[in-house]
Amino acid sequence: MASSLMSLVNDDSRYQKCFQLFLERSSEHQCMRDFIHNMLPDILASIGNGKSHLNVIGVGSGAGEIDLEMLSELRLKHPGVTVDNEVVEPSSTQLNNYRVLVSQKPGLDYIKCTWNQMTAIEFEEHWKVKKMTKKADFIHMIQMLYYVKDPGATMSFFRSLLDKNGKLLLMLVSGESGWEKLWRTYRNQLCNTEISQCVTTGDIKSLLDSKGVSYQSYELPSQMDITECFTEGDEKGELLLDFLTEVLDFSKTASSELKAGVLELLRHPDCSVESNGKVIFNNNLGVIVIDQLT
Ligand code: SAH
Repeated sequence: MASSLMSLVNDDSRYQKCFQLFLERSSEHQCMRDFIHNMLPDILASIGNGKSHLNVIGVGSGAGEIDLEMLSELRLKHPGVTVDNEVVEPSSTQLNNYRVLVSQKPGLDYIKCTWNQMTAIEFEEHWKVKKMTKKADFIHMIQMLYYVKDPGATMSFFRSLLDKNGKLLLMLVSGESGWEKLWRTYRNQLCNTEISQCVTTGDIKSLLDSKGVSYQSYELPSQMDITECFTEGDEKGELLLDFLTEVLDFSKTASSELKAGVLELLRHPDCSVESNGKVIFNNNLGVIVIDQLT
């Protein structure tokens, strides 16, 4: 049965609130930073073919904190390069946060940003209508493929924009995470498949395997403290539950059976560990890196 619940992504202001709290309660960005500092430099070493100017596209960049960390590793690996940074982000709030961050952070003169306030699909259309021939050296999609209708098609389009030695990097929750268990059990009751897909790197790997596309993959351990979800009426717990289920006002709009089932699964050992009175959800992330189609 398709869900009649309203998707959280319909309400940008609540989505942003939930997302901020999720960042505070999880090691999401820290685990991305560890990956960016420890693994990304080697991944980026071969891009660009010796060029002094690199084209980067960030899709679903949010407020840009993670993007700027990647760009700074890129610059360390390729000293002296200038970077053309296309940012694709539909949320005007987030795009504005990103602009502010760029304007306040010193030492970014080597980056020229182009701000595209649009979805990945709109960007694809815009690119085709304008008959753009520019190629990209590095394209990343961090935690965004949930929001496109056909993740495989979006990946193929962006991969087609890669220049020689270019790389496409995507990050999603891992197929081994609590998210996967939650979605496997409740996807039909929770997800609005029109605008949000319950997709993990496990699904993407199966898709790529079936097409014979080779890739590198990495698992990043991450945790999320969901203890507040279990205190009835707790405002923060409700925001976290909205974020976990992707349902707007989940606690107020879901049936009591669904609520009870979700809460039980969330603290089940398949999803979480309990220690010192805290419920710690498995928020492991996966990274997939695909080369240019040759
Ligand atoms: N990459 C950032 C933000 C992840 S949240 C980070 O990891 O911190 C997901 C982001 O994708 C949000 O900023 C949201 O506005 C954006 N988004 C939602 N739908 C999108 C779409 N169809 N195309 C591109 N970006 C989208």
